Amino acid sequence: MNRIVMKFGGSSVATTDKIKDVARLIAKKRDMGHGVVVVVSAMGKTTNGLIELANQLTAEPSPREMDLLLSTGEMVSVSLLAMCLQEMGYKAMSMTGFQAGMRTSAQHMKARIDRVEKERLENAVRNGYIVCVAGFQGMDENGDITTLGRGGSDTSAVALAAALDGSCEIYTDVKGIYTVDPRVRPSARKLDRLSYQETMEMANLGAKVIEPRSVELAWKYNVPLYIALNTGDVPGTRILGEEYLVEKNTITNISKVDGVLLVSMKGNNGNGKKVTECFLKLAQANANLDIISHSIDAQGVGITSFTGLSSDQHAIERILEEMGMEYRFTENVSKVSIIGNAMRNQVGVAAKAFEVFVNQEVTFYEVSTSEISISYVVDTQDAIKIVNALADEFGL
Ligand code: ADP
Ligand code: ASP
Ligand code: MG
Repeated sequence: MNRIVMKFGGSSVATTDKIKDVARLIAKKRDMGHGVVVVVSAMGKTTNGLIELANQLTAEPSPREMDLLLSTGEMVSVSLLAMCLQEMGYKAMSMTGFQAGMRTSAQHMKARIDRVEKERLENAVRNGYIVCVAGFQGMDENGDITTLGRGGSDTSAVALAAALDGSCEIYTDVKGIYTVDPRVRPSARKLDRLSYQETMEMANLGAKVIEPRSVELAWKYNVPLYIALNTGDVPGTRILGEEYLVEKNTITNISKVDGVLLVSMKGNNGNGKKVTECFLKLAQANANLDIISHSIDAQGVGITSFTGLSSDQHAIERILEEMGMEYRFTENVSKVSIIGNAMRNQVGVAAKAFEVFVNQEVTFYEVSTSEISISYVVDTQDAIKIVNALADEFGL
């Protein structure tokens, strides 16, 4: 019996009627004779609601208690889904993440999956149960409940598929992965196929449709990945190894991340000592830094710039003040990225993109490249305009 892990996000199980709809799709898979494991997120915006509750009591809730609190959201949805499947006459059983064998590191709210102890899950599947597993959660070596970070149910699903040697189908509220977020660009096209690398780059650069760590895991363990609409009746996007792709030289996606903060620091003479100290302190404060650049002006004064998250602004400010740095913040900026395999061996993508910025009269503060992407930092008020202009230019 081959194994399929089906994953449904919060919007797909937001109400009991929606739970009934997904249960019908799950039952259809089971009727086809597959071994079925289902990973479910918390209903609708439950996780946000739980975070709000904690914030009503304390500005800095303990991460351990937060994890116990947040894990309850997924437990509600899996137990309801299992009841619904039983009511339809199917053998079904719900499991928390730890009952399903999800063992993680002890970093609360951003735990990493160490291993899956799969015996119990495996047995249940072999005995014909549809097993509904709470996503986004596991247990550390102290026996404490952990969560994997926002959007982590995708990662739970891929980890279980890898452990069971099965495939993973991620069902969501759009028909698959698009050339641009369809909520930003309604005319965007759904992509039939994509490579793991392109998908991971997109996810890392803001395409919220799939969580980056889940793609990394799928790539590492060669888990076949499919992303589709939660009705199951329209073809979605298949993620494949590059060797299976016919069209290799394409630009596939434009992504955007809002809520970026641009920081410029002055006064370093180029030897990097103070900057290094500063970066170390920022890392200790868990501030995520991204595009980093360094230059020396005509007077020999070093300027180091980096982007961070607006949500880390207070922590960044505190550290720079403590260190007596001379700095400037540029707030309300976004990162817009062009992604595709074509970047590897086609010249002129950057030149074409620069021309779009000139024609649109949009300035960018920073630019950075990877093997298959180019990212620009722009004012958030220009971001949607430039996303659409770039999408027009590259036929997306
Ligand atoms: P779920 O609750 O199922 O995990 P998410 O809200 O996390 O769903 O992800 C789905 C959303 O991702 C879509 O509603 C869409 O707005 C957004 N999205 C961002 N970029 C893309 C893209 N390139 N293709 C498809 N959807 C995208
Ligand atoms: N419920 C969690 C969140 O909202 C995990 C997930 O949906 O994947 O982030
Ligand atoms: Mg998601």
